[in-house]
Amino acid sequence: MDGMRALATAMGCAIAACAPHVPDGAPALSDTIVVGESTVRLEYQARDAGAARRVAEALVQALPCAERWGRLRVPVTVVLHPSHGALEEAVHRDGFAWLRAWARFDTIDLQSPRTWNLIFPPTLAEIEELLAHELTHCVMYQRAGSASSWPYKGIPLWFREGMASVTAGQGYKRGGPEPLWAFYARQTPGGGGGGLSGGSGGSARPGRVPRGGDPISDPEPLYQEEADLVYGAAHHAFQFLLDRYGAERVQRLLAEMGEGHGFETAFRAAIGIPAEAFEAEFRRFLAWRGWVGRP
Ligand SMILES: [Zn+2]
Repeated sequence: MDGMRALATAMGCAIAACAPHVPDGAPALSDTIVVGESTVRLEYQARDAGAARRVAEALVQALPCAERWGRLRVPVTVVLHPSHGALEEAVHRDGFAWLRAWARFDTIDLQSPRTWNLIFPPTLAEIEELLAHELTHCVMYQRAGSASSWPYKGIPLWFREGMASVTAGQGYKRGGPEPLWAFYARQTPGGGGGGLSGGSGGSARPGRVPRGGDPISDPEPLYQEEADLVYGAAHHAFQFLLDRYGAERVQRLLAEMGEGHGFETAFRAAIGIPAEAFEAEFRRFLAWRGWVGRP
């Protein structure tokens, strides 16, 4: 350890810097950031020392936001990758130009903000927002399971990404629910939207699952090419869950998973209906444009 410095914040934050011995090309420096009672370790290469300072500053704001859903039980390691290619390699994804970070139980792989946009560098608020999103994933996974069980809880993409997006306040970039309504309208034979708006017989079947990918219940076929649609669906579905059933039941859902249940069982116990029924409710909300006329 070659130094220590502290950030004086209301949250109480300390940063310790050290230089672990690691192979060439891997992150060579690390800081430990303590916010309240939670710890985040930051790893980066020397060329990203400036970006790392901004990330450390952003973490102080982002972590309390994510911890709305519970404390980090296990320290998280944030690895700053010096390029987009290095990030994709680390997370084993190829062709995801829009990807900036990838969260797991106790790690966040993050493309260095230095390389997000060379012409318009991100603001601190943009870095905070992204970190709040990723840290929400970590909090969710740590509440749902252990370091070995969390990937097997069966948490659907809409819940994972929706909770992260809503918590990070990313609604402004998701657009309204209209594109989702239009998506389902296109799935209706003879559609154009008219068929979905009624719900009284004919070919209109609000709540049904279309073929070839569904942004809620079968998002994988759409994830790479129609990320905006998938993330928008996730955001609006989670917000719908919060509005309709309340945050306390969502907390209970996380607690049920933490007690050993998978998502389906936990959802039914906490929310009171099967997840599939909720997804159908949300599709009906879209089909009937339930948001129209709301304040
Ligand atoms: Zn995410």
